[in-house]
Amino acid sequence: MSKHVLSKSTYMRGVKCQKCLYLNKFGKDHRDEISDNQQFIFDQGTNSGILARELFPGGIDLTPENHYDYSMSIARTQELLAQRAPVIYEAAFLFDGVLCAIDILVLDGRSYKAYEVKGSTSVSDTYIQDASLQYYVITQAGLKLKDISIVHINNQYVRHCALNIQELFTIESIHDQVKELQDNVAGNIRQFKKILTGKSVPEIGIGGHCSAPYVCDFMGHCWSHIPEYSVFNIARLNGEKKFDLYERGILKFEEITEDIQSEYLNARQIMQVQAELGGTTIIEHEPIAEFISELSYPLHFLDFETMMPAIPLYDNERPYQQVLFQYSLHIIQKKGATATHSEFLARPDDGDPRIPFVKQLIRDCGKKGDILTYNMTFEKTRLNELIRDFPEYTNALQSIIDRIKDLMTPFQKYWYYTPAMRGSYSIKKVLPALAPELSYANLEIQEGGTASAVFTAMATGTFLGDVEQTRTALLKYCHMDTLAMVRIFEVLEKL
Ligand code: SF4
Repeated sequence: MSKHVLSKSTYMRGVKCQKCLYLNKFGKDHRDEISDNQQFIFDQGTNSGILARELFPGGIDLTPENHYDYSMSIARTQELLAQRAPVIYEAAFLFDGVLCAIDILVLDGRSYKAYEVKGSTSVSDTYIQDASLQYYVITQAGLKLKDISIVHINNQYVRHCALNIQELFTIESIHDQVKELQDNVAGNIRQFKKILTGKSVPEIGIGGHCSAPYVCDFMGHCWSHIPEYSVFNIARLNGEKKFDLYERGILKFEEITEDIQSEYLNARQIMQVQAELGGTTIIEHEPIAEFISELSYPLHFLDFETMMPAIPLYDNERPYQQVLFQYSLHIIQKKGATATHSEFLARPDDGDPRIPFVKQLIRDCGKKGDILTYNMTFEKTRLNELIRDFPEYTNALQSIIDRIKDLMTPFQKYWYYTPAMRGSYSIKKVLPALAPELSYANLEIQEGGTASAVFTAMATGTFLGDVEQTRTALLKYCHMDTLAMVRIFEVLEKL
């Protein structure tokens, strides 16, 4: 078994926060569970890594069978390097107790070039730090590297027929940045080893580092003293001010005195705090009445669901493009009428979901009446993308765009605010405040991220669950979104 003290992932924990590094070794029980959505993002990264191998085909794969034991991979790497193997996947190296593997190693003339694959669309500081450790371990272990690069997804790529791997990925050398960080890496390794042999948890408080550049999986533990509703929930208050309040010992709304309000908060934030403290609901009848009176029937309540595969699945699709696969539509023909419902959910086996989606949407929306969405920027942007990708539908789609109005406006503008909304105007917060009888809590699928992950799995043939049961769950979820809009509209109308 390879004896290592640090790996690339534990090193990166240390770079983020030394307490995180310590807890990862001595406080594993405190780690938050990985959500389905996070798992989906990891899987997309792994899939990109496998696909990128096609840039350098024919390599020998040294991925270990057991991810806790790299000893075979390390030994085989040395053998293959001695034989001047042209391409190696997951070559593994150990130096001074630090283990790392590199996605692709390619012989170029007399020396090797290293490639690390990332599923994102640009090179971040985190990637440079992470590759700096790989460069350090590989070169200190005795292999001179001619170059080291990040292979990432090219967001300008548009799929036409078969995937073009050369165009899908971009290769960016980070050799110079990585070389500059080598002293820093050596210092970090010394420091992190000290932390891991220490007897106590490093005294590091919560801060912006907990959620940037990515969310720490010990937040449930380190943030457990923060009340469910605190200064951290004040809408659009910047992080610096939130932590400043926290450092001053101000956490709960009751602790936000009038002086503190005027020092830190704008008018809307003061309104949120005062509404909470006084338990008051704010309703501005006039602008709400004007908003409602300007709507023209039949009223359409529309909501889209999308998936964002890293690797485009269909023609005219870009990496991470939001691909429409489902909508729900409630229609109220005239004032006081009961809403009727129509919906669309693609069948992944039928190919690109956008084409049947567009055809049915145009039919269902008809030619008359306003179309209400909740946060219209999302729906309008998706429809404009459809026009770009399927220009033959431009006129019909443009007329749908022209009829869209935003049901979020009364809440976004704080014409209606009640403490139960907790500073947010998202539909998930507005609905329980206005129509508590409707709830997502009993639904199998409760949020858009899960809907997206599930449909992507179906479209890529990796879904393992019951397809029909899951389709029903998807339909119920999206139906709830537009039914919620109808109820919210009815509450506003009664006002
Ligand atoms: S939650 Fe914050 S303080 Fe706690 S380990 Fe993570 S980054 Fe460090």
